[in-house]
Amino acid sequence: MGTKIVPVSITCKSLSKKQRSLEILARLKRLYPDATCSLNYSTPVQLLVATILSAQCTDERVNKVTPVLFSKFPDAASLVIADLVELETLVRSTGFYRNKAKNIQAACRMIVTEFNSVVPNQMEQLLKLPGVARKTANVVLAHAYGINAGVTVDTHVKRLCERLGLTEAKDPVRIEQDLIGLLPQSDWENWSIRLVYHGRAICKARSPACIACELADLCPAANKPVVVG
Ligand code: SF4
Repeated sequence: MGTKIVPVSITCKSLSKKQRSLEILARLKRLYPDATCSLNYSTPVQLLVATILSAQCTDERVNKVTPVLFSKFPDAASLVIADLVELETLVRSTGFYRNKAKNIQAACRMIVTEFNSVVPNQMEQLLKLPGVARKTANVVLAHAYGINAGVTVDTHVKRLCERLGLTEAKDPVRIEQDLIGLLPQSDWENWSIRLVYHGRAICKARSPACIACELADLCPAANKPVVVG
């Protein structure tokens, strides 16, 4: 194990934050042209449920749980009448399973009783659903309805945007506001999706591979000591 210093290039210093954001966006599109939502689902309700389950959990783990879950309870109506203990058991391996099961059932109840069994396609209405914050609402709006209502800020997006010097905020809502000011609305969601890919592949939490990173010349954190080997 060693420590390597990667120098900050002239590019990083000479561009404004907005210019860097747009260049990072262009490179991410080239690097991950086919990036898409990693969660498996067939309907907006299933996407909502999968996204609730993905909190503090990997999409890979969620995708192992949802085939059985959705085969037993494929829609909001069936999830409302599901036995809570059975629901908890089915989602247990995603962590925080009691809260997640409770929120899934309560959200589905509201979808059935207040939204005619259809997942709403407006941010304000989605945020009324139990267990749904802006991150989940942004994912559902973007991937179920093709609406760029905001920028999804998950743990990868938060970490990478901090390292890339695009925000100094710690709170996801404030980070989202910073990113909204830097990026074209049409790219809000694909920015997040591609940053997640980059976070998984290169800019990992504990050992960012700056030496192999195609964003290094745009990244102020690339000159900081990083653990390699
Ligand atoms: S891997 Fe290094 S250079 Fe690339 S974005 Fe992360 S911190 Fe910056």
